[in-house]
Order: sequence, then structure tokens, then C-alpha cells
Amino acid sequence: MLLKDKVAVITGGAGLNGLGFATARMMANQGAKVVILDLEVANPADAAAQLGPDHLGLVANVTDKASCEAAVEQIKAKYGRIDVLVNNAGITQPVKFLDITGADYDRILDVSLRGTLYASQAVLPVMQSQNSGSIVCISSVSAQRGGGILGGPHYSAAKAGVLGLARAMAREFGGQNIRVNCVTPGLIATDINKGKIPEDKRQTILDGIPLGRIGEPNDVAGCVVFLASDLSKYCTGVTLDVNGGMLI
Ligand code: NAD
Repeated sequence: MLLKDKVAVITGGAGLNGLGFATARMMANQGAKVVILDLEVANPADAAAQLGPDHLGLVANVTDKASCEAAVEQIKAKYGRIDVLVNNAGITQPVKFLDITGADYDRILDVSLRGTLYASQAVLPVMQSQNSGSIVCISSVSAQRGGGILGGPHYSAAKAGVLGLARAMAREFGGQNIRVNCVTPGLIATDINKGKIPEDKRQTILDGIPLGRIGEPNDVAGCVVFLASDLSKYCTGVTLDVNGGMLI
């Protein structure tokens, strides 16, 4: 088992069709004790209960530093350590550049970029005290292409920011045996894009994916588990593309 007795925290992990929950399930199957953090409306306790009795679901809003810190206190009280953090919470908005309002910009950047900052800031002192840890940040192919298939330019900016923030963390905390890596998923079938791919665009999108299909949440989860586990113990600051070859 790749994550035996490791404590793994996943933000935005409560959506049962999402990348975060697929990762949570795979990590639980690999022996981890999983903590799902998500908004109240997403029912993180119910999602964690689906994984079995050893796991925990807590309400936490990653855009609120105090909320992240409160969650980490509860995790410390229950498990005493945190080995893995997956910064997965994110939202998107399909909108054109000239139509982005200041409020849109704040909302999208707040969840992906500020959320990555606050969740990592809350967890890092625990990892520092252990002299070990692995953080995996979920960015997006949108950061690399300069445009999402479904996300707007502010989503691309937020996800590009995640790449920079992660590399800065990798550099600053490497000496304390804390690794920080990113995954950049392509188009993956989850609730974030359900029903949003226009039928007339579907074939064009598929033509741009050498592997010829839209990704599944487990395609991403496997790569997150790899980066979380000791299999990748000499990798830090890495960006792992999981996009079916979209950028070739
Ligand atoms: P999803 O909508 O199923 O998951 C996002 C989760 O984030 C939800 O459970 C939501 O409740 C949670 N969330 C939103 N705001 C939050 C907040 N303030 N605090 C805590 N949790 C919050 O979508 P998904 O496709 O599983 O997306 C997961 C991650 O993968 C996101 O960061 C997304 O941008 C990224 N991503 C997705 C795709 C794709 O094609 N699905 C591609 C590239 C990147």
C-alpha cells in the first residue's frame, strides 16, 4: 500500500463525481486516513463516511484562513499529524476576457489561488514539525494553454498562479523534507463541466486529444497518489500533465 497510515487532507473533496473524491477514495484504498475538507453545502462528513470509519469530513472554506486553521486543529486532535495535502478546491466560470468583472476575478482567484495559500499555510507548520510532507496542488491545462476549454481567462490566471506558488513552496520547504508538486489535468468528466460541453464542439475537442477521450477522475487521482507517495520522493516543483496528450 502506497500510503499506509499516512494522514491525507484533500480540499474540495466532497463532490462524489469530482477529482477530489476520486483521489480520496484511491488514497483510502492505499491505506491512508483521509480528511475531506469542503463547504457545508457539499456535505464533507457524508462523503468521508462513504470511505469508511477511519476517515473524517470537515466543513472548511479555503478562502477563509481561520476556517483552514480551525480544520487543521481538529485534524491534529484526531490524528496528530498530516502527511499529505491536496489543494484541489476550485471553481470555474466560462466568460470572455472583456466581460470579466472585478467580482468575477476575485471569486475565481480566491478559491484556487488564495485557497492554496491558506490551506498550505495552515498545514505547513504541522509538516515542518514532522520534517516531512507532500503537497499536491491541482492546477489545470488552462494555465498552460492560456485559455481553458471551459474556464475563463481569470481561471487560467488563477491556475497559472498555483504553479508559481507551488514552485515557490517547493523551493522554500525542500530543506525540511516537504515536497510540493502540481498536477495539470486536461478535460476531465466531473460536475465542474457537466452539461457544459456544447455538442458541436465535442468532436473538435476530442480531435485535439491524442488519446482520443475525455479524462476520468481516476486518471487524475492516480497521478496525485503517485506525487503524494514515496514513489516520487525525489520529485519536487514538478508539474505532471494529465491531459491525454493535449499539449503535444
Ligand atoms: P468539482 O466542482 O467536482 O470540485 C470542486 C470542489 O471544490 C467542490 O466539491 C466544491 O464544493 C469545492 N469548493 C468550492 N469552493 C470551495 C471553498 N471555498 N472551500 C472549500 N471547497 C470549495 O470539480 P472538479 O472537476 O472535481 O475540480 C477539482 C479541481 O480540479 C478544481 O481545482 C478544478 O479547477 C481542477 N480541474 C478540473 C478539471 C476538469 O476538467 N474537471 C480540469 C483541470 C483542473
